[in-house]
Amino acid sequence: MKKYILDLRVKSNERLNNQNVLLKLSADIPLPEVLPGQFAEIRVDGSPPTFLRRPISVNYVDYQLNEVWFLVQEVGEGTKKLAEAKISQLINVIFPLGNSFSNPETPQQRMLLVGGGVGVAPLLYLGSELKKKGLSPEFLLGGKRAEDILQLHGFPEIWKRLYHYRRWFVRRKRICNEPFCTLHPKIRPYIHLWPNANDESRSRLCSP
Ligand SMILES: Cc1cc2nc3c(=O)[nH]c(=O)nc-3n(C[C@H](O)[C@H](O)[C@H](O)COP(=O)(O)OP(=O)(O)OC[C@H]3O[C@@H](n4cnc5c(N)ncnc54)[C@H](O)[C@@H]3O)c2cc1C
Repeated sequence: MKKYILDLRVKSNERLNNQNVLLKLSADIPLPEVLPGQFAEIRVDGSPPTFLRRPISVNYVDYQLNEVWFLVQEVGEGTKKLAEAKISQLINVIFPLGNSFSNPETPQQRMLLVGGGVGVAPLLYLGSELKKKGLSPEFLLGGKRAEDILQLHGFPEIWKRLYHYRRWFVRRKRICNEPFCTLHPKIRPYIHLWPNANDESRSRLCSP
């Protein structure tokens, strides 16, 4: 896929909780095709210690409004500066980068999308694209605190069912070490709801 270097304009910067903001950026030209799971390398201007661009997942693309959305969690200098972005400010991005999630084999398949904290970022767009294909994705979202579960009310029409769970990621990094994300002890209690969830073709995971 062709990559673009674009100056995007900040349309809105919404604070979701004490650590996360949702940036909606628009382009002067029609946005390129972006696949769920892809990310942008964002240049952080006005932050001398942030020498390199910062990778941030595409949260959603609204082609009608010509907007691309990014969920940003403030962890260091770069993301803190990004979270301060003002309306009309220009933000330089290189995108779309990386791979996408694989597609389900049949439109009838039940799909479970699993994410935690800012790791839910790509799942909103993935869910809406699956919905367009006639699937009804289900979501298992986690966070250390209830308020860390992001965008719960953002797109209720795509949530067929939503299961959220506090304190999933007590041992955050461990989640990816399990052979299947669905075997993680914090997720397992919910898994009987998806009898075939350990079938890799039916679950998609994004974790910070
Ligand atoms: C492909 C990809 C997609 C990503 N998508 C998103 C996204 O959609 N939204 C988002 O907010 N972030 C996302 N990230 C993570 C984001 O890129 C980093 O959090 C960011 O680069 C940190 O930059 P910084 O300058 O703020 O912090 P740095 O100055 O680089 O780091 C400051 C401190 O924070 C620690 N730190 C850095 N990153 C993290 C982290 N992720 N979690 C906890 N501690 C950390 C460092 O170890 C260091 O101690 C993504 C990363 C990748 C590789």
